[in-house]
Amino acid sequence: MALEIIVSLNGRPIAAACAVNISDLAKLSDYKVTAFETASSFTPAASNTFKIEAHDREQSCWALVEKIASRAKVHPEEQGLSRDEALAQGKRCGCRGADDYCECQNVPDAITRADRRATRPVLAGQDEGSSE
Ligand SMILES: [Zn+2]
Repeated sequence: MALEIIVSLNGRPIAAACAVNISDLAKLSDYKVTAFETASSFTPAASNTFKIEAHDREQSCWALVEKIASRAKVHPEEQGLSRDEALAQGKRCGCRGADDYCECQNVPDAITRADRRATRPVLAGQDEGSSE
């Protein structure tokens, strides 16, 4: 079973997500989700993959759409992982980097975010230490 969500603006698709049930349609189901959005005047094109776990299927489809929508957006600071970052995070995770849909392969963890901050040049006037 795959649930597809397409977001159109004046009939033109600008974003889509596909959620595939990976738990044999159990009452509490897990889904692998892939989401995309096209570039706009305000945001670059982006994609995101993630897992939704233990979702109760016996309710309105909008409940699943709500969960997908809440996680599909890629926060600019959390954009993508380099191959090296994904490898390093995989070593720190229970999946050992083998699950492409695991958060460790898609979202920077606390250590990666700290590493990025440490290597990022500090801009004049930027408030240090207030993040998180
Ligand atoms: Zn993992």
